[in-house]
Amino acid sequence: MTKRVVLIGHPVAHSLSGAMQQAAFDKLGIDATYELWDRPPIDLADAITEIRSDDFLGANVTIPHKERVVPMVDRITEEGQATGAVNTITREGRRLVGHNTDVAGFRFALDALVGKAKMPRNAVVLGAGGGARAVVFGLITEGFQRIIVFNRHLHRAEGMVKHFARTAAHMELRAMPWHESIIEAELAKTKLLVNATSIGLTSDESPVPAEVLLPELLVLDLIYARTKLQRDAAAAGAETADGELMLLHQGAAAFTLWTGQPAPLELMQQKLAEARAGGIRSAEGEPTGEPSGAVAE
Ligand code: NDP
Repeated sequence: MTKRVVLIGHPVAHSLSGAMQQAAFDKLGIDATYELWDRPPIDLADAITEIRSDDFLGANVTIPHKERVVPMVDRITEEGQATGAVNTITREGRRLVGHNTDVAGFRFALDALVGKAKMPRNAVVLGAGGGARAVVFGLITEGFQRIIVFNRHLHRAEGMVKHFARTAAHMELRAMPWHESIIEAELAKTKLLVNATSIGLTSDESPVPAEVLLPELLVLDLIYARTKLQRDAAAAGAETADGELMLLHQGAAAFTLWTGQPAPLELMQQKLAEARAGGIRSAEGEPTGEPSGAVAE
């Protein structure tokens, strides 16, 4: 019987995961389909009930459900618990297990950006959603000593900091109000900037003015496209990376959780590149609508 894996989000119309995961199933001869389920928050609980049946290998969960789904599964892995966000679900009989493979994906992306240089110890993180939670947990466990989080709605960043209070007890994790002058002052003191907001996803905007980006910075943008932030940072002489490696490796980790097999990374990367060449510019959880003028390179 053909098994099913679903991506539950709202919206999911332009997801890149479909092409990447279906190609991986086909390549390894796994009789499974990857489906996109567009479910608004009110329908999330029903969708989670539905995937308990034997037809399903599991699911991916994306914007805006990663935090909301946590109480709906039966068991949560350490990373799901630590982040308070779930992006992958597997089945143990009728019980559902919640995982967070964004953390592993983020670690790959960070390591690649830092390269042979010394791992920095200070970071500025923009955003406080599900993606930001994986980023902050990844940074804490990497040994960062100071992480400053800026978010449009300060209370959400404060909630995230509170969530990590125990994990971050040995270091400084702070939420600060989104004011240009404060962001500028913090960037001058840091080596790593991570954009975990969706600013730049559907419009050619940057979360920060170009002038505050210094040449010493490493800039990681979770968005899978050549955003204005990345272009401004590169023009300032900074090292930059987009969300490709995070997307690829969170997907590969999810594939292995569902199938028990190593993921065909090269093929998955090729499928992502094809989608990008076709004009799709966003990572998971992208709003619907046509890609904006800011071209993926
Ligand atoms: P959420 O919806 O959980 O969070 C969105 C974040 O963006 C919040 O911090 C929100 O701030 C902020 N934001 C959105 N619009 C604006 C705006 N106009 N001005 C200021 N802030 C804004 O989404 P996720 O955390 O899941 O995803 C965030 C981004 O990261 C997306 O672009 C997503 O594609 C990307 N991502 C990429 C991954 C990858 O594998 N490469 C994995 C996970 C995410 P507020 O709380 O104030 O609304």
